[in-house]
Amino acid sequence: MNKQLLINKLPKEIQGLVDISYNLWWSWNIEAKRLFEKINPYLWLETSENPIKFLKLISSDELKALVENKEFLKDYKYVYAMFNEYMNKKIKFLENEPLPIAYFCAEFGLHHSLPIYSGGLGFLAGDILKESSDMNIPMVGVGFMYPGGYVRQVIGSDGWQNGTEQKVIKDEAPIERVLDENGNHLIIQVPYIDPAVYVSVWRVNVGRVPLYLLDTEIDKNDPWDRQINYRLYTSDMNQRLRQQIVLGVGGYAVLEKLGIKYNILHLNEGHPAFALFERIRAFMENENLSFDEAVKKVKETSVFTTHTPLAAATDVYNFDAVLNYFKDYITKLGIDKNKFLSFGVNPDNPNAGFNMTVFAFKACKYKNAVSKKHFGVVKEMWKNIIDGNDKLDFVTNGVHVSFWIDSDLEENINKLLGSSWKALEEDVDIWEKFDEVDDKELWNIHYQRKIKLVNFIKERVRDKWKNEGIDPSVALAEGILLDPDILTIGFARRMTEYKRPYLILKDLNRLDKLVNNQERPIQIIFAGKAHPADMPGKKIIQQIFSVAKDPRFAGRIAFVEDYNEEVAKYLVRGCDVWLNTPKLPLEASGTSGMKASINGVLHCSTKDGWWPEGFNGKNGWAFGGDVSDDEKDANELYNLLENEIVPKFYNNDDIGYSKEWVAMMKESIKTITPKFGARRMMYDYLNKFYLNIKEKNE
Ligand SMILES: *Cc1c(COP(=O)(O)O)cnc(C)c1O
Repeated sequence: MNKQLLINKLPKEIQGLVDISYNLWWSWNIEAKRLFEKINPYLWLETSENPIKFLKLISSDELKALVENKEFLKDYKYVYAMFNEYMNKKIKFLENEPLPIAYFCAEFGLHHSLPIYSGGLGFLAGDILKESSDMNIPMVGVGFMYPGGYVRQVIGSDGWQNGTEQKVIKDEAPIERVLDENGNHLIIQVPYIDPAVYVSVWRVNVGRVPLYLLDTEIDKNDPWDRQINYRLYTSDMNQRLRQQIVLGVGGYAVLEKLGIKYNILHLNEGHPAFALFERIRAFMENENLSFDEAVKKVKETSVFTTHTPLAAATDVYNFDAVLNYFKDYITKLGIDKNKFLSFGVNPDNPNAGFNMTVFAFKACKYKNAVSKKHFGVVKEMWKNIIDGNDKLDFVTNGVHVSFWIDSDLEENINKLLGSSWKALEEDVDIWEKFDEVDDKELWNIHYQRKIKLVNFIKERVRDKWKNEGIDPSVALAEGILLDPDILTIGFARRMTEYKRPYLILKDLNRLDKLVNNQERPIQIIFAGKAHPADMPGKKIIQQIFSVAKDPRFAGRIAFVEDYNEEVAKYLVRGCDVWLNTPKLPLEASGTSGMKASINGVLHCSTKDGWWPEGFNGKNGWAFGGDVSDDEKDANELYNLLENEIVPKFYNNDDIGYSKEWVAMMKESIKTITPKFGARRMMYDYLNKFYLNIKEKNE
């Protein structure tokens, strides 16, 4: 067992480092991060800030020296005490303490050392667990271990995305085996599913919140079943169905087996919706309810969050395929198959099959969209299945501030507001004081981050050049000529048609003038993966890559390979402008713009997702019409860049930075952090849903 090996390796005096590295708490705590960094800054960077790998690789001599180092020991004791205090604090969260919540999601984005996420949905889920931990909301997460991860993106010299495997390195990831009574890895059977499938269980410590991950890669399964959870979002519909049965039914059963009591089930997106059936079955069995009574009880105590603004993007399974796996299950529920299947029938398209979103909508009373704008879309889209007694609302997404904010900036905020600001993060008034931050100091922090970003990109390319013998034009397209002194625009997100990554490339002549302006040049950094089956997405990457390679753009347009959480952190802190160009109304919320905005990276976006709620005229830019039109929107974007963004950025007289720009950075930080931090989001979930369910439950 890996954790034990590390404990054995470390001198007794500092063994607490192992506990810290196996709890993601460290990843949103400056003191803990600095502690690892101090031990060996080079190794810390080389191991991509993964403390488990770091402790594995550090030499015994260095460890011995640490125990002799009084100053280090003092820091260590301080951090370890902080950690223990955090973990043991059992403060009551509110007078109206909410009931325990089980939070199910097909992906969790917590840290790059655990690559079981594809993007936004996963990071939202991860940030919800982190924030619930900080707020002491009693929550438990349930998700999937994907041994084959998502895809590692490798771009060929022709600009084509070739995915390779991104394996989860289990002994370098912050996961621990959950053991059974005999000390073996806990394995359970997914109840009443035929043919039988088994899952083993891992635990991830997200501060005080446990996350359980199900894994089918075990000997007890038939070889073809071992692969069920191999890849995230497989395009094989049968495999996808099996994944979702295992996640929902199996996930629920794992909590039962572990004796974890909770009263509220929260489904993040439709993928884990089969948990609702298992909840019905469990209520029938444990509380002697009839099927209809159990359905009612489940409905009153379950929350569903939808993120999909496109009816076509939901998972719909062939009725026969669903029946095939649930035969025994349906018998157990004591209903006929028509009644069972009717839960997934979309009245707008009844023959299509079993629709997971429709099922979740019908079986959960509490449901939400993820921004105000998306709320309008959802109301219209599902008007035929929303019952008048249901509670449909919106909870705009938010981001976990301490995780996404730059450490230097956080220290600055601590100085100004006192470190207790974290307890009052959502309080708009306390952020007024942020105006007092020294302009030059704020700019310097930002400038250092730009340098870090450019160096990070160059080091990655250098490694590739050295180890893989790539073509020099690829090194160029991947950012070797980037310059921290010029206006830097970032565009990083899933590469897919509706996000319109190509919008800023629409008029290459106009772009040429912006990029190659002698006095006021700009550079653009792109990053993002396309889903392996998304051909148009892959073509967009190829198009960007060919522009990046074109000598005409002087190495100032770059495509950074393999976007992940590590790359995202550098980008959302180190660019000047964060560009977002989705076609309305397809971006349900979006969160990367929030991560950028809380770091003072100015958001420039079409009026979709969260931005209509966030934009106040001074904290970034909004452009584009209410009906998206590529030509018109691109034209507006170029106008904005030429007439406003570029002049403002370079209006720096003799002081080396632009006062107007810094004023906007301050406005961005102070207005976006309280409103789009995860704290505000969790208060919304509490007030709109969780606390209401408590009353109903009693
Ligand atoms: C935040 C984040 C996303 C989601 O960003 P959107 O703006 O919602 O597209 C995707 N991937 C990574 C790595 C992220 O950190």
